[in-house]
Amino acid sequence: MDVADIRNLMRKTQASIIQNGFLGKRVDDLGNVVASDGVRAMMESALTARDRVGVSDFVLLENFTSEASFIENLRKRFKENLIYTYIGSVLVSVNPYKDLEIYTKNHMERYRGVNFYEVSPHIYAVGDNAYRSMRTERKDQCILISGESGAGKTEASKKILQYYAVTCPVSDQVQTVKDRLLQSNPVLEAFGNAKTLRNDNSSRFGKYMDIQFDFKGGEEDLLRRLGLERNPQQYQYLVKGNCPKVSSINDRSEWKLVRKALTVIGFNDDDVEELLNIIASVLHLGNVQYGEAEEGNSCITSDTQIKYLARLLGVNGAVLTEALTHKKIIAKGEELMSPLNLEQASSARDALSKAVYGRTFTWLVNKINASLTYTEDSSKHYSVIGLLDIYGFEVFQHNSAHWEPVQYFNNKIICDLVEEKFKGIISILDEECLRPGDANDLTFLEKLEDTVGGHAHFVTHKLADTKTRKVMARDEFRLLHYAGEVNYNVNGFLDKNNDLLFRNLKEVMCMSENKILTKCFDREELSDKKRPETAATQFKASLAKLMEILMSKEPSYVRCIKPNDSKQSGRFDEVLIRHQVKYLGLMENLRVRRAGFAYRRRYEVFLQRYKSLCPDTWPSWQGKLPEGVATLVKHLGYKPEEYKMGRSKIFIRFPKTLFATEDALETR
Ligand code: ADP
Ligand code: MG
Repeated sequence: MDVADIRNLMRKTQASIIQNGFLGKRVDDLGNVVASDGVRAMMESALTARDRVGVSDFVLLENFTSEASFIENLRKRFKENLIYTYIGSVLVSVNPYKDLEIYTKNHMERYRGVNFYEVSPHIYAVGDNAYRSMRTERKDQCILISGESGAGKTEASKKILQYYAVTCPVSDQVQTVKDRLLQSNPVLEAFGNAKTLRNDNSSRFGKYMDIQFDFKGGEEDLLRRLGLERNPQQYQYLVKGNCPKVSSINDRSEWKLVRKALTVIGFNDDDVEELLNIIASVLHLGNVQYGEAEEGNSCITSDTQIKYLARLLGVNGAVLTEALTHKKIIAKGEELMSPLNLEQASSARDALSKAVYGRTFTWLVNKINASLTYTEDSSKHYSVIGLLDIYGFEVFQHNSAHWEPVQYFNNKIICDLVEEKFKGIISILDEECLRPGDANDLTFLEKLEDTVGGHAHFVTHKLADTKTRKVMARDEFRLLHYAGEVNYNVNGFLDKNNDLLFRNLKEVMCMSENKILTKCFDREELSDKKRPETAATQFKASLAKLMEILMSKEPSYVRCIKPNDSKQSGRFDEVLIRHQVKYLGLMENLRVRRAGFAYRRRYEVFLQRYKSLCPDTWPSWQGKLPEGVATLVKHLGYKPEEYKMGRSKIFIRFPKTLFATEDALETR
């Protein structure tokens, strides 16, 4: 083995070292300080560490285009309980399904105020980075946590909040905001946890709600006022939703916690009461039973629920009853009430429940977000850090279609295809939903083939060549995102999209005396004579709104992966994981990272590390930081296409450039 071999080996092994030891401390993935004296010792320890634990940043994978090596790296790390890995600054997290000793106060201290790359990947690093960017760059931050149900999103947000609670030095005002942030979590959990079991179509409504209420220990008179029974099994939605969790959360403290949290967030007793009225109404709605009247028309068989509903929602019972069994149609300029059959009536009822619950939840999130702003210098309002927006999007997970916002907006071509540049997938879906007669999921697929079939990024079984066809089912279409393909199964697309809220139900809700619902159901909506919005259209609108929020903030990303469907620790289900790597767009993330300026370092950090390589910057640079860095890289012979100077950071395009600089340091 000659010097060149050694250096080649070094180059490979250094990857993980550079990553972790950017400031000169050499820390491997296990947090061990790697010996920096003696090439051999370093090589050996780095090599074995890397073999065993993989790389801590996917950007450093040799074979970065290979999904197999991506997953292999995840697996290695998972096996070693290293659940966090970066793709550049994106944090990938795999749910360990067991408590790891990595969230101690010591860990928090370790991540506080240090450079992102100095320590091994951690959710705390993301939190710390966002917080510091907010302080130094004065830009609102948001942390986007995505992943399917059970992947660890809520845990991740909790961890970030706990980190802030412990580490951030704050004024009283900010303390209040922090309390609110911490408290927002139990509230959102109580109200917003969507039960989204994969492949579970039977629990249609249950997917949308998971009310973690305590019916056993709840306050007696409160329950009486709400007309609720203590037994959760009483409630169709809770039973149908197959939410065993609800019954297991039965100690009084859970509800006390939520209630206290609501107070911290700024809810007064009236607000709480109104909120509870709504939740109780949804449960009552679920128990509205239909029977069959003449000619297959539906009627409501018992008026117990209606009575409660009328009182809780502050609406007229008779009007509500009519709206739950009829649909208003306008024929020849005249309004007619057309009776609904059993099936139509129960889906109208469910649509109402979803709308009430969904809109209330959105209202809640907005209210919490509003409570999370504080004023500094009596001029600008800062929102501390928004962690919340993604909650609202959880409900779209089970659609398996288009819910992943970031990928979506990074992806212009696909955007146009899905949206309606001309006639996109969403408008075709809407059209098919409104078409009377034999419209179904497969006719929707055919329509797609007719309309966007010519699009280079759209494939179906029929359109595919013989080779691709083998791997495509007949009820799928495939979108070729520019660095990966995603299949979408059309089963249930029409149904999901059809969850419409009939106009007369909207009208009833607009008449509600509940103060929260007044804000959720705006009369403006009714003046709009257009056809009701379908789920896809609504989704598009809320997506646009999310985009707006995202654009105004600097986002950090956490991608959560669920390792298996059985909640077991240590089980790495490759098929399931590959699926998530696909639809989270991780390979795409990685490619973009590698293609772009893969390495970015703050000027001061860069200068500090490499100043010894240039006589003009050693032992210290007296002038402005960017000039110092410019002098340094010029001396190192960086070519213009290899780097860019940002506002506060230098961006280096190729890892090899940095490796060479790192080598220079080593052989100085
Ligand atoms: P999501 O919000 O994405 O649906 P959760 O955050 O509720 O998922 O995670 C589901 C469960 O997985 C948690 O209740 C917890 O038991 C476990 N879990 C998630 N993240 C972690 C973690 N970092 N460490 C230990 N257990 C975790
Ligand atoms: Mg969650």
